[in-house]
Amino acid sequence: MKRVTILAKVDPNICTGCKICEKVCPVYAVKVSDRKSQVSEPDCRGCANCADRCPVHAITMVKRAEPFTVGVDVSRFDPGEIKELCAKAHFNPEQVLCYCVSVRAEEVAAAILEGCDTPDKISSRTGIRTGCSIECIQPILRLLAAAGIPLKPDLNGWQWYGQTVTAWTLPQEVKNKYGSRGFYFEEDKALLEQIAAIDPAQ
Ligand code: SF4
Ligand code: SF4
Repeated sequence: MKRVTILAKVDPNICTGCKICEKVCPVYAVKVSDRKSQVSEPDCRGCANCADRCPVHAITMVKRAEPFTVGVDVSRFDPGEIKELCAKAHFNPEQVLCYCVSVRAEEVAAAILEGCDTPDKISSRTGIRTGCSIECIQPILRLLAAAGIPLKPDLNGWQWYGQTVTAWTLPQEVKNKYGSRGFYFEEDKALLEQIAAIDPAQ
């Protein structure tokens, strides 16, 4: 759950309309029209990506008059379905995927079960990826893929890096090549599976 207390505010007298802010917003809350950037107040999750990257410092983060919380109430979902989806993606449901705003795997799984089918929708719903915006894209893509949702680059927005290899998809030739050079691929995989394993008593 993320408490959204701040909001991006654009100074139109400084904005040059370069659209960098539009491209870095993880939830599509910024749009440039007539060469001026505009922020949708209800959609902004206060991550400050746009303010950090605006080359002319046209954006400042201001306090919201009415802060709000974003997050999915996991208790509304079938725990079996949540566990199944997390297991398919090799995550423990309680595993924290986003350290900036403490979103767990079960929350992302719940958002997907609720109908979120892109990273921006998941970010908007859960608050994930509205911190550093870098680390948690991979877990999101893994959970979407595990749910059978096709992953397509969105060239208008959310910075497509594609999926990186995981301990489960590493090609055998890579393992053969580097296995004797101080890498412990199978041991790493076994450890990750131990973390992902669900206690049968739960
Ligand atoms: S990054 Fe800055 S200058 Fe560029 S469109 Fe956004 S607010 Fe305007
Ligand atoms: S969510 Fe982040 S990048 Fe998007 S408008 Fe708000 S502060 Fe800027």
